[in-house]
Amino acid sequence: MEFADEVPDILRHPEASLLVSVRVRMDDGSLKVFRGYRVRHSTLRGPAKGGIRFHPAVNLDEVTSLAFWMTFKCAVLDLPFGGGKGGVAVDPKSLSRMELERLSRGYMRAIADFIGPEIDIPAPDVYTNPTIMAWMSREYNRMKGHNTPSVITGKPVPLGGSLGRDDAAARGGYYIVQDLAERRGLRPKEMTVAVQGFGNAGYHIARLLHGEGFRIVAVSDSRRAFYSEDGFDPEAVMAHKDAEGAVGPVRRQGEGWDVVDHEEITNEKLLELDVDILVPAALENVITPENADRVRARYILELANGPVTSEADPILKSRGVTVFPDILANAGGVTVSYFEWVQNRTGLYWPLEEVHQRLRERMVGEYHQVEAIAEGNDLDNRTAAYVLALRRYVEAIKSLGTSDYFGRS
Ligand code: NAD
Repeated sequence: MEFADEVPDILRHPEASLLVSVRVRMDDGSLKVFRGYRVRHSTLRGPAKGGIRFHPAVNLDEVTSLAFWMTFKCAVLDLPFGGGKGGVAVDPKSLSRMELERLSRGYMRAIADFIGPEIDIPAPDVYTNPTIMAWMSREYNRMKGHNTPSVITGKPVPLGGSLGRDDAAARGGYYIVQDLAERRGLRPKEMTVAVQGFGNAGYHIARLLHGEGFRIVAVSDSRRAFYSEDGFDPEAVMAHKDAEGAVGPVRRQGEGWDVVDHEEITNEKLLELDVDILVPAALENVITPENADRVRARYILELANGPVTSEADPILKSRGVTVFPDILANAGGVTVSYFEWVQNRTGLYWPLEEVHQRLRERMVGEYHQVEAIAEGNDLDNRTAAYVLALRRYVEAIKSLGTSDYFGRS
């Protein structure tokens, strides 16, 4: 793919980065100061869009890379957004709920003049959730003196959130699998699925695929991992996790659950199972050159961000494993965030069926485009998704004139 020399330079540098200190009065009367960040990588195709992460490891480099990633994710889905990201270096589990609210509101006060519905729109990310978005949204409204729901997405539904946002990341991936099965004549009832990580993304993909007839033969979380040839019932596994704090090898039985025939395995072993679809839905860098040649799944649906390293990609391709890359497979989340922003701006709220129908159209439409680029150029899906995103980004740059244009005048 050809593009002007200046494109990599533009991409390499985020448009703007903000560093803030957030002072929080703790419950015991002491004062703590937390480092916060917000990076706008690009606003070329529209306002920057990207989540806010609360995690001890958050730093400017990480936030900048994640903002870059969002520029590409939004371009793959052809959303009228660029990329942004934010975060606070904090262990949220060490805070009380009231301390967490003070931190969230304090962070919003610190970034309020840097963001806005036309410039940069945050959302939830690791260890932030709809309640935190609600606190931030209220704080922004209080500062600006008017109600601006479109400044932040992932809000609770009664405060302007969109129906369908809760399972959107998984549902987007599910629509890809559904379309793949339809077009390739694959029979869900004959297909097996292993899911690593049973949080928001992992639980919902297991639930949706199970509802379609796929057999969920392996599940895991940070504490345990199980395999069963007969398959698990995701609702029962989640009920077990809620009650016991970890996934269990269970199927629904009346109001409760029944333990099924199973084998306890490790999270590493789960990645190497002979299944049709492997769904990494927990952490980054779990499939590397160390274990890529032991992966036996036919398809990998990346619901986590970055589960397969770039060095592992060619190994998987050479072994005939098809990867649906994160910037496509889990982009249902940002797509429904876009729908939330549209609904907030028009004041017209869509029924759930409409959200689902629009999400399906967009996911499947962009998946077909990625697939056409991959098949037409003998590329893996990840490279093809980046090519599609880059094409859209470069078109936007070209519309302003590049050296090819100015050099001729
Ligand atoms: P979550 O916190 O709800 O769930 C994470 C799950 O992973 C938990 O069940 C946890 O126990 C498990 N886990 C943690 N460490 C593990 C380990 N070592 N091995 C196996 N399991 C482990 O998070 P989530 O929202 O489901 O996000 C999961 C991934 O999906 C992240 O990479 C996230 O960036 C990505 N993602 C999520 C969304 C979304 O809307 N939820 C959107 C896009 C991408």
